[in-house]
Amino acid sequence: MTTPPLPRAPRIDAVFDFDALLSEEERDWQQKARAFAQERILPIIEDDFEKAHFRRELIPELGAAGFLGMHLSGYGCAGAGAVSYGLVCLELEAADSGWRTFVSVQGSLAMSAIAKYGSEEQKQRWLPGMAAGELVGCFALTEPQGGSDPAAMTTTARRDGDAWVLDGAKRWIGLASLADVAVVWARVDDPSFGEGGQAVRGFLVPTATPGFTATPIAGKLSMRASVQCDIALDGVRLPADALLPGARGLSGPFGCLNEARYGIVWGAMGAARSCLEAALERSTTREVFGKPIGANQLTQAKLADMLLEVEKGILLALHLGRLKERGALTPAQISVGKLNSVREALEIAHQARTILGGDGITGAFPVMRHAANLESVRTYEGTDEIHQLVLGRALTGLNAF
Ligand SMILES: Cc1cc2nc3c(=O)[nH]c(=O)nc-3n(C[C@H](O)[C@H](O)[C@H](O)COP(=O)(O)OP(=O)(O)OC[C@H]3O[C@@H](n4cnc5c(N)ncnc54)[C@H](O)[C@@H]3O)c2cc1C
Repeated sequence: MTTPPLPRAPRIDAVFDFDALLSEEERDWQQKARAFAQERILPIIEDDFEKAHFRRELIPELGAAGFLGMHLSGYGCAGAGAVSYGLVCLELEAADSGWRTFVSVQGSLAMSAIAKYGSEEQKQRWLPGMAAGELVGCFALTEPQGGSDPAAMTTTARRDGDAWVLDGAKRWIGLASLADVAVVWARVDDPSFGEGGQAVRGFLVPTATPGFTATPIAGKLSMRASVQCDIALDGVRLPADALLPGARGLSGPFGCLNEARYGIVWGAMGAARSCLEAALERSTTREVFGKPIGANQLTQAKLADMLLEVEKGILLALHLGRLKERGALTPAQISVGKLNSVREALEIAHQARTILGGDGITGAFPVMRHAANLESVRTYEGTDEIHQLVLGRALTGLNAF
């Protein structure tokens, strides 16, 4: 059985015959995500972005499509390959970064934390409902005093008899106000690190627990169709089995961040592709000086440069995906991909906006929305500077953090 050709982006897709590098199963995942994005997200996204509205009712549909925790196996998850997951991220972010972010937070961060580090009981309790989109999870690492240095974390968990008690604050936590469970990272006393030693540990916090408060952050000019929150943890009392047994130290959260960063390598290229599509379309339909603006060499040079970076970015993402499937993907390689994809996607969005002229600043085109969203993507999951420092360390052997 041959997969029918994907709708949309035909001229861009045709340049490299990228499809030829994919398996039929991978093309099927991509097609399903592209159809979802076009049918369920694109018709409402400009309005949702303008009204800063998160459309919660889409979550079970994402679950039914198999997109939530799709790279995990068992517990209702699809067990798909890394490239399939990347293609889904690309197609969702081609519609809006907020919806790719949702899939990343739910699947790559919250579900991955439970799948990697949880007990069998914790997996049974949370993962099937999260895969189905019946339960929502969030991942609370960043704190108000600075997200780039999680080692400076001040949130604490202390033992009180059989219970754990959490105190502290988190900031910028995606989905927290609608989540059923929060994966909260906190500092605990740990004598195995010597006298007075401490370690970062993960806790599964049902959000209905007294002392847990999530307040959506207002006034965002980016990611307006999604939700990020401040969290207050005020004497949050949890049973002993709320601790994720398999994570000790910052390697725990970093293991999940690497999963989400990998999805961004693909996703940002989806936003870039949409910006290029909008500019391309306008180039052939808008006439100035008596001819289509795309007939000018300067416009064609811009389009050519945009195409170059979209194609290079997608080929890099595919390479990283194949490495991931072989279990050979390193954090430094993920930094190359995340830094490059987001930086180039932003440049493409800005160039596309120039081709659209004045109309390009309106919601009639998706470009300013993508550009605004990509500002968040540039900052979360490691800023440009943090990935440059990771790569600088890999190149020189010197730690400049
Ligand atoms: C839309 C959105 C969603 C998010 N979702 C989540 C989530 O679900 N869960 C979560 O835990 N967090 C989330 N975050 C938080 C995100 O991970 C942090 O914003 C990010 O880590 C940066 O932290 P910060 O904003 O505190 O910036 P800061 O750490 O204050 O950094 C500010 C600037 O200083 C630079 N800088 C810092 N240190 C150095 C250095 N040593 N050398 C050079 N430059 C440096 C940074 O690169 C940056 O440019 C989200 C953020 C946003 C905007």
